[in-house]
Amino acid sequence: MDTITELDGELIVDRAQLIGGDWVPAAGGELIDVINPANGELIASVPRGGAEDVERAVQAAERALPGWRDTHATARAAALFRWAALVEEHADALDQIESQEVGRPHWGLSPMAGQIRFIAGQADKVQGLSLPTYQPDTLGMTLREPFGVVGAIIPWNAPGPMFVTEVASAIAAGNAIVIKPAEDAPLIGLALAKLALRAGVPAGVINVVTGLGREAGAAIPAHPRIRRVGFTGSPATGAAVMEACAKNLTPLHLELGGKSPQLVFPDADLDVAVPAMVTGITLNTGQICAAGSRVIVHRSIHAELVDRLAAQMETVSVGPWHQPVNMGPLINGRQHERVLGYIEEGKRGGAELVTGGGRPAGEDFARGFFVQPTLFDGVSPDMRIAREEIFGPVLSVIAVDDEAEAVEVANGTDYGLVASVWTQDVGVAVRMSRRIEAGQIGVNNALGSGVIGGPFGGYKKSGFGRTMGADSVLDWTQVKTVSLRGAAAPQL
Ligand code: NAD
Repeated sequence: MDTITELDGELIVDRAQLIGGDWVPAAGGELIDVINPANGELIASVPRGGAEDVERAVQAAERALPGWRDTHATARAAALFRWAALVEEHADALDQIESQEVGRPHWGLSPMAGQIRFIAGQADKVQGLSLPTYQPDTLGMTLREPFGVVGAIIPWNAPGPMFVTEVASAIAAGNAIVIKPAEDAPLIGLALAKLALRAGVPAGVINVVTGLGREAGAAIPAHPRIRRVGFTGSPATGAAVMEACAKNLTPLHLELGGKSPQLVFPDADLDVAVPAMVTGITLNTGQICAAGSRVIVHRSIHAELVDRLAAQMETVSVGPWHQPVNMGPLINGRQHERVLGYIEEGKRGGAELVTGGGRPAGEDFARGFFVQPTLFDGVSPDMRIAREEIFGPVLSVIAVDDEAEAVEVANGTDYGLVASVWTQDVGVAVRMSRRIEAGQIGVNNALGSGVIGGPFGGYKKSGFGRTMGADSVLDWTQVKTVSLRGAAAPQL
């Protein structure tokens, strides 16, 4: 299968975005091409939306809002459950679309239907409090209400799961949403929105405006009638979005980058740790916010670990998305240059290149944005490759002498998204779980804590607010205190 036109055609949206239930072009009429990063071929085109399109989408959301907000919570949940069922029914087609635009091999098992169901289950459990009052004839309570019209901006690296998390949580609470998917991977969001309409989510409750970040994206936090924003992406863009929100005093949550440490103690089970760490940095070609990109290892097992990591990395197969490989290309030429630039920077900066280090050789790799899984040893914590998010399959090994130094190095970056601890010692595990500054800790587990519905988000410059978790719907509500005073005396 080489082109997207051979896919389940009913889910492909070409040259249209979703505003008020209609599939429409951009106000300016221009298009953006969506390219398969494995071979540079055109998959589809989407409208190059801008501020005018966001304004139309906000108006459509405002029209849809009263009906949706007043739809009882069980009915909203039911629509979301129907959406989840359709997502599951079309799982293969959705996987094909997402893997083509991101350039990753097929994963088969997508978390999306489960994510929607988890969130749908919270829709009718948004509860307030009963409060004490001064007067006996007064009841006190809190109501949890939707913000109204809300906005979201998401990245390209896991465009399907990001789309369902933001959209399902926001609309479960009774909001209507305007969402801008990433320009590199907008098709999965459009397909998901199509299924949501089919599931009975009313027109205008979900609006998808496609386009560039500096145009359609920037128009969302700048819009004065968007009452809350969810942003997932890089710290630099997150800061720009926060600044724009500040001008309107719009609340927001930010899900930003990471430089996640993997702490390996002398008693670690390397048979488990090594494959998990290599998967943790090569899955999605390292383009995962949670990617465990720094190995912090006790010096006593350092040499053995480096040998084993290198051997494991060399088993990772790289190739085009439609082949049964472990790792596809990077998303685009810019990202390719950036990752290769970091590899050069590592070499120049004095780190020792153990394996990988460039574009794989051979004709198959000439066109796509491929890079080898790359391992650096002899990395010191002040090197750029140890501090900055590379967003590629580049793993840096830092040797340390004791637990205190391991914690200091682990906490020594601006980020605090995920950390893994590899040890058999419960005492070490408990101390590390408490001392490491990260939103998620996995003990003997890479890529986060691996729990169902765990709240996900960052410490420090990895952002604030949490998605998923028991509060994912509450996050999109605001609290109102009501005091309800009855008649002073009986009427009868
Ligand atoms: P990015 O910041 O470049 O883009 C993210 C989104 O913001 C895109 O839709 C883009 O079009 C839009 N955008 C760009 N400029 C904008 C502007 N001025 N105003 C408004 N919107 C704008 O990030 P990316 O390269 O697409 O994604 C990779 C980053 O996302 C990494 O840093 C990664 O760690 C992070 N990420 C974080 C999480 C998390 O949950 N913490 C999850 C996935 C990705």
